[in-house]
Amino acid sequence: MDDTPDNHPEARDDHAVVLGAGFAGLLAARVLAERFARVTVVERDELPAEGPRFRPGVPQSRHAHVLWSRGVDVMERLLPGITAALREGGSALLESPRDFLWLSPADWFRPVPGAPVLVGSRELIDWCVRRAVLRDPRIRILDGRPASGLLAGEDGRSVVGVTLRGGEPLAARLVVDATGRTSRAPAWLAALGHACPAVTRYDSHLGYSSRLYALRPDPDRRWHGMYVQGRPDSPRGGVLVPQGGDRWLVTLVGNGEHAPSTKEEEFLGFARSLRSPALHDAIRGATPLSDPTGFRNTANERRHYERMDRPPDGFLVVGDAACRFNPVYGHGMTVAALAAQALDEALTGLAPERIPGAVQRIQRATADAASVAWQIATGEDMRYPQTEGPPPDRATKVLQRYMSRVVVGANADPALSSRFFGVLSLSTPPNTLLGPATMLRVLSKWRLPTTPATPAYPPHHPPPTGP
Ligand SMILES: Cc1cc2nc3c(=O)[nH]c(=O)nc-3n(C[C@H](O)[C@H](O)[C@H](O)COP(=O)(O)OP(=O)(O)OC[C@H]3O[C@@H](n4cnc5c(N)ncnc54)[C@H](O)[C@@H]3O)c2cc1C
Repeated sequence: MDDTPDNHPEARDDHAVVLGAGFAGLLAARVLAERFARVTVVERDELPAEGPRFRPGVPQSRHAHVLWSRGVDVMERLLPGITAALREGGSALLESPRDFLWLSPADWFRPVPGAPVLVGSRELIDWCVRRAVLRDPRIRILDGRPASGLLAGEDGRSVVGVTLRGGEPLAARLVVDATGRTSRAPAWLAALGHACPAVTRYDSHLGYSSRLYALRPDPDRRWHGMYVQGRPDSPRGGVLVPQGGDRWLVTLVGNGEHAPSTKEEEFLGFARSLRSPALHDAIRGATPLSDPTGFRNTANERRHYERMDRPPDGFLVVGDAACRFNPVYGHGMTVAALAAQALDEALTGLAPERIPGAVQRIQRATADAASVAWQIATGEDMRYPQTEGPPPDRATKVLQRYMSRVVVGANADPALSSRFFGVLSLSTPPNTLLGPATMLRVLSKWRLPTTPATPAYPPHHPPPTGP
């Protein structure tokens, strides 16, 4: 047994430290355990031992979370059996749009196959992933221990570990920051004399308000989830997703002055103001199980660590700490999984002593994993006039117009719908929508309006009867 203390310089050789035991941090730890004898995950929160619970470090867990098929696939490859564990715990693997009542910015999607999506409680996802990751004896979590800075090497610039609050050092050959949207990495790097990474930011000022309900079983209900999307001329939307048993989570969203309130008495009224009454109809007689809770800081923000001229050896940034998205597109966790996969691939064949010096290449690979989701989220957000950020270039504008047509086509044509959801789930590359066969299908629907007046309910689902 190696009893070298953690703060001893020799202890760092076989040791990697991950900051943050969120989704990105845990998957990164899983990957690093294949390359390092020991991986320590440092987490600020005290982690619940008794099961899935809310914790302050992941406040977004009170809002609807979906994990698209690509994220499910990568997560399952890294942690075999995790999908089954999640389903046992109450998550559902749904087919999108087939299992949803889904009003797109144009019309209703038909109930046809498209892409699988995992829905359920975010707290359950974190709990199951943590349990699965900790089955590996090489990984340990130090919880209730906030990281407070980076340990500099002898050159004063490279990173050879971290300091925990109170000043306790923890030596490591590689440090990965996965502390999410509140990451202090820019300040920590500045303290070592590094320039801050460039930042790109698009903010459509989307606000969230979510509330948990108990829904009575309804034999006439033909859907397993609901999504009423907003659009620039009507920027209010809502999602209803199952959480296991009779528990359903409602998340209402709106841009700028349309952001939903967290006042109990205004929640149902906002739901009634969406483009379809379907969500309101579903929850109006249901029993609320929680107060509404809000979330406002939803900008897309990319910190370009991959572009740093001389990044410090031994330090990487992943997950929301590097790139976060407007959450309404549901891509953050899938991108975190893709970054873990990219980290895995980039480390392949690299001797441990060469890893600290290879961080620039690795950081670029993990940044690439975010590119498609970034394009989707920022491209969509730029449609909203109040969005702050660099203006769209010509190519983006052309693509936006084409994508509006793809959605119109997907509403009417199951083959297009399937291709559209393949891209939205990050399972197929966006250029599959630009192939000649797809373009022909899109062109054949060109005359349909992009913002039609839509019926309250889609043809495949009648409105509920009774009060
Ligand atoms: C309202 C909302 C809804 C969302 N919906 C979806 C969705 O439907 N689908 C989807 O895929 N994504 C969604 N996301 C995005 C998703 O939540 C994030 O992309 C994902 O959690 C990123 O994981 P992460 O590990 O980078 O960060 P987090 O999960 O936020 O974890 C960061 C961890 O770092 C810890 N930490 C922070 N500071 C320190 C420190 N100094 N020392 C030690 N530990 C620290 C925190 O306690 C936390 O445990 C949503 C986000 C929001 C805000």
